[in-house]
Amino acid sequence: MHELSISRAIAETVRRHAAGRRVGLVRVEVGQLRQVVPDTLRHCWGLVVEGSDLDGAGLEVVEVPATLECRACGSRRELTEPVLRCEGCGATDVAIVSGEELLVTSYDLRGA
Ligand SMILES: [Zn+2]
Repeated sequence: MHELSISRAIAETVRRHAAGRRVGLVRVEVGQLRQVVPDTLRHCWGLVVEGSDLDGAGLEVVEVPATLECRACGSRRELTEPVLRCEGCGATDVAIVSGEELLVTSYDLRGA
């Protein structure tokens, strides 16, 4: 499962940074283009951390909308349909500005 491997990757990142300290709440930004279901991701996170050194750590998922920049007309818009095309001029020569994020933005430490 997609979300399960993402959860493992997040846990690895947090574990490396926390270096043995107790972690409370982890915040991640997930781009819309990653096609991650936040509820599924939180569920998988629970499975991944259960019984580990991160047991009890919560996961807050922030979704980042996909944004495209058109190389033809220069406009920048949020993606509203699952088509990589400029909604202004119709060109398909577009660059993805956001929407592919998968970032651990912060985490809280407990009982330090
Ligand atoms: Zn355009």
